[in-house]
Amino acid sequence: MNEIILLKYGEIALKGLNKSVFESMLMKTCRRRVRDLGEFKIYKSQSTMYCEPVSPDADIDGAFDRLSKVFGFAGIARAAVVEKDFSKIQETAAEYLADQLEEIETFKVEAKRSDKSFPMKSPEICAELGGYLLEKFPHLRVDVHHPDLTVTVEVRDYAAYVRGEQLPGAGGMPIGSAGKGMLLISGGIDSPVAGYMMARRGLELTAIHFVSPPYTSDMARHKVLDLVKKMCAYSGRITTLVVPFTHIQEEIRDKCAEEYFTVIMRRYMMKIAQIAAERYGCEALITGESVGQVASQTIPAIACTDVATQLPVLRPLIGMDKDEIVTIARKIDTFETSILPYEDCCTVFTPKHPRTRPKLASILHEEEALEEQALIDEAVAGMEQITISI
Ligand code: ATP
Ligand code: MG
Repeated sequence: MNEIILLKYGEIALKGLNKSVFESMLMKTCRRRVRDLGEFKIYKSQSTMYCEPVSPDADIDGAFDRLSKVFGFAGIARAAVVEKDFSKIQETAAEYLADQLEEIETFKVEAKRSDKSFPMKSPEICAELGGYLLEKFPHLRVDVHHPDLTVTVEVRDYAAYVRGEQLPGAGGMPIGSAGKGMLLISGGIDSPVAGYMMARRGLELTAIHFVSPPYTSDMARHKVLDLVKKMCAYSGRITTLVVPFTHIQEEIRDKCAEEYFTVIMRRYMMKIAQIAAERYGCEALITGESVGQVASQTIPAIACTDVATQLPVLRPLIGMDKDEIVTIARKIDTFETSILPYEDCCTVFTPKHPRTRPKLASILHEEEALEEQALIDEAVAGMEQITISI
């Protein structure tokens, strides 16, 4: 029996003229994700993408896991492929779903007949197949309202497909369909979640991370690269930029009032991220800020940070509570890495009494003591590029 993975389109099914552009992005992403798992044929028809193992060594379990993380799909299911012949459909359903049917008590059959030339109508398929399964598995009962298992038959263009439950897909829009974004990533819990959320809306990510050796360790840097690697499961390859930030932080510490340290530092991050964004074709910056979490995340502080860049700053976590963010971090498997205890450059010279309502005029005044252009040029010149993929 041949097995296949069926991927059902999410929002893109509703798109008009752009649908085919989105479809080809999706197809490319799917091909790339399973490339190292053996040979698969990937094709599309009727708002569904098909991933069919071709070589005997093709790892369908691995492919299912990878494809369940591809943005743009609302549902994903494994199914048995069968000729469009009802007696074969019956036999295949009983054989393919035997293990599941043995373990449950109630079921129902659903039929979707997008190939209208198939001689039986959907209600007829359901009734006949239901009867057949009841005969084969006499312990079963039909429950159309709350079945333990829904057996689905889809009669489509190329073949018929028999399957059990469909799982939710990764949702969102295809990677790249919304352009590119530059994610400011720290080692914390929030920024990887922010990156995941914007990637889910179709942004291809480039990541930028600021390090301050010797105040921050090599372990801290590794931790961030590990986080990026975990994010790649969802967003594909991520070019990651590591920027030396020590000199800038020392200068701010030595020359500016302590209470403004964090906001000035954040403004420098924005300025450097903007330069990197221009180089790498990104049209927005992304951060993991959420209102009220820390002193630098008050509205006046965010206002002072925003004006340091002309690019839109996307903050998908802005209205979320920490526990909601943690739930997503666990789901995307970044949480355990994020809570490893290595120092981040933000925690290095944290002021004792940061200003929660900083005034831009005071900040600009403080910043006059800094050789801004020289500091930024130096950091950008020291920027290192690392390509990370799953
Ligand atoms: P996170 O959990 O992402 O570290 P946080 O709640 O600790 O966030 P801050 O430390 O105030 O918040 O950082 C706010 C945002 O600034 C981060 O979400 C991230 O986008 C960016 N940021 C902070 N530190 C760095 C860094 N070292 N490199 C790049 N971006 C950073
Ligand atoms: Mg942090």
